[in-house]
Amino acid sequence: MTYTHNELEQWDKDYVWHPFTQMQTYRQTNPLIIERGKGSYLYDTEGKAYLDGYASLWVNVHGHSDPELNEALKEQIDKVAHSTLLGSANVPSILLAKKLAEITPGSLSKVFYSDTGAASVEIALKIAYQYWKNKDATRYAKKNKFISLDEAYHGDTVGAVSVGGMDLYHRIFRPLLFQRIGSPAPYSYRMEEIGDEEAVKDYCLAALEERLQQQTEEVAGVIVESLVQGATGIHTHPVGFLKGVADLCKKYNVLLICDEVAVGFGRTGTMFACEQEDVVPDLLCLGKGITGGYMPLAATITNDTIFNAFLGEREEHKTFYHGHTYTGNQLACSVALKNIELMEERDLVASVSHKAANLKATLETLYELPIVGDIRQRGLMIGIEIVKNKNTKETFTVTEGVISQIIETARQKGLIIRELGSVITMMPVLAMSEQELQKMVGITYESIQEVYETMVVNA
Ligand SMILES: *Cc1c(COP(=O)(O)O)cnc(C)c1O
Repeated sequence: MTYTHNELEQWDKDYVWHPFTQMQTYRQTNPLIIERGKGSYLYDTEGKAYLDGYASLWVNVHGHSDPELNEALKEQIDKVAHSTLLGSANVPSILLAKKLAEITPGSLSKVFYSDTGAASVEIALKIAYQYWKNKDATRYAKKNKFISLDEAYHGDTVGAVSVGGMDLYHRIFRPLLFQRIGSPAPYSYRMEEIGDEEAVKDYCLAALEERLQQQTEEVAGVIVESLVQGATGIHTHPVGFLKGVADLCKKYNVLLICDEVAVGFGRTGTMFACEQEDVVPDLLCLGKGITGGYMPLAATITNDTIFNAFLGEREEHKTFYHGHTYTGNQLACSVALKNIELMEERDLVASVSHKAANLKATLETLYELPIVGDIRQRGLMIGIEIVKNKNTKETFTVTEGVISQIIETARQKGLIIRELGSVITMMPVLAMSEQELQKMVGITYESIQEVYETMVVNA
């Protein structure tokens, strides 16, 4: 049975509530309805092709409808789709956990599965909290708090929002949340008064140390997005910042949680972003790219020291009482395993690093445009900050609609990208060819230019 675009559009508007979407505005637009995908392209119900410059929300690795990933799923579905991990095991979840233990840095070796990045964060927070209680409930009675960075994003469940620092998304929910200790984040572009990147790094690390010094007894852990704060607008951290955070966590004996839901699986040019700073966190949160963009799966990975603190007789209640119905789902785990194997076979991480370096010069040409204030890149994670005025760095208001016009213009030209506030973000499919990457940046350039020119004409 096939349906027309108009029928689907009507039913979409009648029945579907879209995430992070003002539905009143959405219902006035002509929605993009995707029907299929192949390689770096998505196709809508009318057959129009779009280059996937957003990797379908930062998840796609090898391209859409990869024959080998498709085959892995088909093979698994003929065996079994799902059985529970609560007290029993299944084949793909075992093999994937072993693989994850092998490829994650240092002594990370114990894998706790869930199904969304936010859940992987909740799990890390709960493990960190309970770890101290299991270790010594009296001595660590006050270790109930987490430090997180300002403008941090760790997902949308209540616990993940509690450690979030994005006022726009989180303000309304504040009364529901547990208390966090906020610490300044290194956003060099808008911290000029402090100095260069190095000075900004030192400033933020000093602020973190102050908090750790004053509240060490209350702090269970520090949670940080490794190298890049994604959702707030691709804020790339100064080199050495993550290492500095890790050193402070050691010094003050608090746990380090690295949220690599966005940056993990090759996105920044290494398999895991923390490897670039020789950091091994106590807890590592993974999601998004883990299944190559095929299935919802996430994982929280920790070391033996933490895992062992949860061992004991049943009546000691050291058990981690947490789980999800679909924890360790076979379809998700089998496609994730195949995704990682293909990354290795295809030497994908090295190619991301290579392609990212080659793209740098092309990206720099965007500075020619009068409204491009800052260009930030780590691997194939790119943010273009749009400003009204390069000197004052003033941004456009939502009502002016400049950013949404740029995104819409790009879509008409066959490119899917998205905005985060005033930042145009490009998060291409990791396997995208050099030629397609050039095309992505080219369309983005033209779209910004056209919108700017219209603006000047109308002013
Ligand atoms: C996307 C994201 C999350 C949340 O993942 P979901 O799968 O959307 O729940 C958490 N942390 C970071 C850094 C992310 O980018």
